Amino acid sequence: MEVKSQARKHSWAEPYKMKMVELLKMTTHEERVNAIREAGYNTFLLRSRDVYIDLLTDSGTSAMSDHQWAGMMMGDESYAGSENFYHLEKTVQECYGYKYVIPTHQGRGAENIISKIMIQPGDIIPGNMYFTTTRLHQELAGGTFEDVIIDEAHDSKNLHPFKGNIDLNKLDALIKKYGAKKIPYVSVATAVNMAGGQPISIANLKAVRALTEKHGIKIIHDMTRVAENAWFVKQRETGYENKSVTEIVKEICSLTDGATMSAKKDALVNIGGFMAMNDKSLYEEASNMVVVYEGLHTYGGLAGRDMEAMSIGIRESLSDDHIRARIGQVEYLGHKMMAAGIPIVQPIGGHGIFVDAKEFLPHISQNKFPAQTLAAEIYIDSGVRSMERGIVSAGRNKETGEHYFPELELVRLTIPRRVYTQAHMDVVSESVEEVFLNRKNIKGLNLNFEPKYLRFFQARFEPLH
Ligand SMILES: *Cc1c(COP(=O)(O)O)cnc(C)c1O
Repeated sequence: MEVKSQARKHSWAEPYKMKMVELLKMTTHEERVNAIREAGYNTFLLRSRDVYIDLLTDSGTSAMSDHQWAGMMMGDESYAGSENFYHLEKTVQECYGYKYVIPTHQGRGAENIISKIMIQPGDIIPGNMYFTTTRLHQELAGGTFEDVIIDEAHDSKNLHPFKGNIDLNKLDALIKKYGAKKIPYVSVATAVNMAGGQPISIANLKAVRALTEKHGIKIIHDMTRVAENAWFVKQRETGYENKSVTEIVKEICSLTDGATMSAKKDALVNIGGFMAMNDKSLYEEASNMVVVYEGLHTYGGLAGRDMEAMSIGIRESLSDDHIRARIGQVEYLGHKMMAAGIPIVQPIGGHGIFVDAKEFLPHISQNKFPAQTLAAEIYIDSGVRSMERGIVSAGRNKETGEHYFPELELVRLTIPRRVYTQAHMDVVSESVEEVFLNRKNIKGLNLNFEPKYLRFFQARFEPLH
């Protein structure tokens, strides 16, 4: 008799064991108060040696496997035509199904080139919620991003199983308003980062495909988190229960025309990315342009060894056992925090826990940066480093110069892959709980230095009294 895997009583335990450990420095409360002050209350500006559990990002922070490290020794460091490039090309073709592949130093390198080639000034790029670097490159190319994600995605309490879905009415309205000629492509992200790692369903993607095909509009896939998206499809979408993550990933990619990838996330490497496409002329333009910004089209800013580690990491990332444990750990932390009454984005997403800072700190208005404040407080409590995903990350409207005021004002606790233990997750939950109990004493922050681009990385703050 078949038993659904979710119904079985078993742990999400890891399909690997430790071979080497990295020692961490433990800090005192006083040291942390000083460190965050020196960092301008911005967790991006902390030195990592002052951090105990680093949940700033899951980008490039994963632990590589022994196979990947062995692959690093197989680097073919030729300027042109490295063996490792051909391995990467074959891996992308086999695992994702795209015909042409060009490596880049990371995701935004690919975003820059795709945006420059495909976007004309005045164009509109609809997408399922903005991502910081993706939108910026679209804007720098002269385009305007339009959010077409379903409304449920902006509501941290809504339990919709596919909060990454596109609202077809919103997309259709944009096509009617601007005309298909002004829309070079729809930017479709899988496991939407800014919504909290929320998946898009294959049914929705198929519907988007049908609508855009009718108008000759392409789909460019931000496939940074496609494996995590596939796991949710397997858990939640009818007809996919018995498919493997590998099969689901391939089906998702087959519904799109090209992709940009930050391999620093799902693909388990510390640096690397690529762009991929099925259209030969787009490939030719991209492989010419990549020479200007990244390097020759057979290395794109990477060493041979980086491409080798990426090829191996891609295959490891598509194993069901790997993703079950990866998302299992995230869910473990989320359930623990929910049991303690912490307001978090639900359903729990793929790569981290997103704390609702508006609900956590209702007495702090959004222009006093509640999520930024909360991230600083959690650091002071325990040395756990998280980051802001709210008004600071959203930036300013390029026309009016005003802050964007996003619905979601979140603190992101992002879990690196294969790095921390269940006991570390316990420490994180206990620390957030401690801050929650003392939340009434927390005041907001004042922004006193603001860089022009992607301000959340380098902005500085001072506490309000
Ligand atoms: C990280 C990320 C990017 C950008 O990739 P980098 O490798 O950081 O340049 C783009 N899209 C999504 C969804 C991401 O998570």
